[in-house]
Amino acid sequence: MVQTVNGSVQASGLGLTLMHEHILCDLTPAARRVDPREEVVITLENVFDVTYRPNDYPGNHRLQDVEIALREVERFAKLGGGTIVEMTTGGLQPDPRGLQMISAKTGVNIVLGAGFYTEPYQDEKTLALDTDQMAETIVQQLTEGAWDTDVRCGIIGEIGCSWPLTPFEECSLRAAAKAQDKTGAAITVHPGRHPDAPTQILDILEKAGADLSRTIMDHMERTFTEVEQVLELARRGCVVEYDFFGIEQSQYWLGVADLPTDWMRIYDIGRIFEAGLGANVVISQDICTRSRLQSYGGHGYGHMISNVIPLMRDRGFSPDEIKRMLVETPARLLASV
Ligand SMILES: [Zn+2]
Repeated sequence: MVQTVNGSVQASGLGLTLMHEHILCDLTPAARRVDPREEVVITLENVFDVTYRPNDYPGNHRLQDVEIALREVERFAKLGGGTIVEMTTGGLQPDPRGLQMISAKTGVNIVLGAGFYTEPYQDEKTLALDTDQMAETIVQQLTEGAWDTDVRCGIIGEIGCSWPLTPFEECSLRAAAKAQDKTGAAITVHPGRHPDAPTQILDILEKAGADLSRTIMDHMERTFTEVEQVLELARRGCVVEYDFFGIEQSQYWLGVADLPTDWMRIYDIGRIFEAGLGANVVISQDICTRSRLQSYGGHGYGHMISNVIPLMRDRGFSPDEIKRMLVETPARLLASV
């Protein structure tokens, strides 16, 4: 069974699953939040630039219009999408009630993440928690309800990590491992932007007793330039995640990274399959800005179905391989053990 925001469902009924998205969130760092009246109005004249420099436009990282979110998830449902994993964890303004409504109206299963994003997004009260208290919070989010509701989470993360890792974030990783030990839930981690970050994180998790076969390392394509580095991680038994599908531009908004396009991601994933590690990879789009929603001129949640799956077929992926990444491995990770 899988815990969704509207109760538990059979893992075999999840259908096509996006493992890393944001539906209702605010990823604007506290220092950059502005009055909603001062937020960018996206038009045909500026939509390219807002997409190219998503961080330069106030409000672009705030997705809190429930009607727009509903329309966007509806489009995903119409294309045959089954489940979205909502990675909006503590610090990113999760909205469990809004997600319940969207899921009920669209029929798309939504699985909510538990735990804490990176340190800069946390308030004083959260920063004062010790590892055991953080673990208790995560267990409560998974078993009773999250963010002052009775809506239960179904996965731990995305657990936010910076580079260098802060002491709070190290506790947050250990807390995730403890909560996994109690509940069996999978862990998904946003690593810092340095190629050494994922290995350091896996070492910490492993030492804290985490099950690496139920641990997902996110954002491969902005962390590594060589697929060999990704293969090395996958060989440790974790699941690697390519989750920037739909981002096809040279400019990275948070530093210097040689971002690939969708077909380049697909070739790298092909190498992972060739190495016999096809069960250790999942894919998603990590939508977290207005400019990537169809309502504002972007590709929307359905890009995976309309555009990426055909690209994969053209490049030799079999229907079974595609199903493994988008249906079977997500179901294995989200099912309770
Ligand atoms: Zn992330």
